[in-house]
Amino acid sequence: MKIVVLGAGVVGTATAYFLAEDGHQVTVLDRQPAPGLETSFANGAQISACHAKPWAAPHVPGQAFLWMFKPDAPLLFRPWRWDPSLWSWGLKFLRNCTSDRLRTNMERTLRVALYSRAVLKALRQKTNIQYDQITQGILHIYRTPAEFAEGRHTAAQLAAMGLPQDVLTPAECAKVEPALAHAARTDLEGGLLSPEDESGDAQKFTTELAKLAAARGVIFKGGVTIRRIEASKGQISRVITDQGDETGDAYVLAMGSYSPHFARDLDLALPIYPAKGYSITVDIDNPAAAPSVSITDETSFMVFSRLGNKLRVAGTAELAGWNTDLDPRRVEPLVRNARSLFPEASNYKDLHAWSGLRPTTPDSVPILGATPYANLFLNTGHGTLGWTMACGSGRVIADLIAGRKPEIDLEGLGLDRFA
Ligand SMILES: Cc1cc2nc3c(=O)[nH]c(=O)nc-3n(C[C@H](O)[C@H](O)[C@H](O)COP(=O)(O)OP(=O)(O)OC[C@H]3O[C@@H](n4cnc5c(N)ncnc54)[C@H](O)[C@@H]3O)c2cc1C
Repeated sequence: MKIVVLGAGVVGTATAYFLAEDGHQVTVLDRQPAPGLETSFANGAQISACHAKPWAAPHVPGQAFLWMFKPDAPLLFRPWRWDPSLWSWGLKFLRNCTSDRLRTNMERTLRVALYSRAVLKALRQKTNIQYDQITQGILHIYRTPAEFAEGRHTAAQLAAMGLPQDVLTPAECAKVEPALAHAARTDLEGGLLSPEDESGDAQKFTTELAKLAAARGVIFKGGVTIRRIEASKGQISRVITDQGDETGDAYVLAMGSYSPHFARDLDLALPIYPAKGYSITVDIDNPAAAPSVSITDETSFMVFSRLGNKLRVAGTAELAGWNTDLDPRRVEPLVRNARSLFPEASNYKDLHAWSGLRPTTPDSVPILGATPYANLFLNTGHGTLGWTMACGSGRVIADLIAGRKPEIDLEGLGLDRFA
């Protein structure tokens, strides 16, 4: 079959790779000159099934309200902005803020994340793909008894769903990650280690996977801006771009935060809103003082991942439309927290600051699978976990297009859950 994949982020590229493995003729379209240059470019680098807890939770509306007026808050939501798509998304988000919905959404996300982690490991074994990966787990650190108790509660829920984690004392945290020794003595209440989770550079992975896909015949067309998707008689008939039309037997929509704009022309309402996040990447001056094990700081909502001789620090979320301007007030907390946790790791002066738009659904579950158009498939809305879920999601879409039964149950992952 001839298949057109729209979007060459980590999700679209993984989809193209698995489609090519099945022998399809695949073309990938992206407005950027190369794969992985938008949201997949400088994210937190974690393969973190342990982050399957959705954003929508019973305590979140109150917390978000308190943060509304703090420009450096971890989650910034300003409902008074004139933005009907934000209001509609926000209402759906509120409906997901119950304990029952939280449990359901956590199970759905974890189902995809665990599968995806396994597909990534198998892919690595098969291809020896290299992307500054570290396979030593992810360590969550907690500073207060209340945060630690909440963390253990979530860990128990995740364990019951198939993700075991180890509860650690501060001294054990320092044993797992010696660069935490000072914090462990002075500042930590405890930690949770998810031993099978990993980290690695999503952009490097996307670039390398695109090379492997190209070797199997995938054509990546960069610098091509998609303008519209057209349908007739219940089928997608063509994709209109600034460089002419593209046609195929099947189409995969994998355009991250921009997916809803194109689905709208087809009368498909995708509840995806961009949650803008930031990262900084710094050179490591003192390797012994920088973490090797990827860390999630549950007080600051920031993650730390080592990528070769660099340290990536990422976090914060702002629901403020589709703009990627860098606001120094949102960069500064990343630098401050990194300096305080790992003061000797870097001079934190020559830093590369970046922002990206997480394609976020109101329930934090991606949107995968079929649509009312027989030849259009969705692989989008991966929010905070697109790198974690890319390989599994790509494999699921390839299975669907091949007419095979996917290896995970797709219950609750499709667009129909919002009907
Ligand atoms: C600060 C931050 C930290 C994060 N940390 C993590 C993490 O640690 N672990 C994790 O799993 N996830 C993380 N994420 C989330 C993850 O980065 C995203 O979920 C993932 O990159 C989404 O991939 P994607 O391929 O769907 O989207 P994208 O990478 O954005 O790809 C979409 C592609 O569509 C293209 N496109 C859009 N519009 C057009 C158009 N009109 N014409 C042509 N092409 C178009 C874009 O150029 C882009 O390449 C983080 C995100 C942020 C912002």
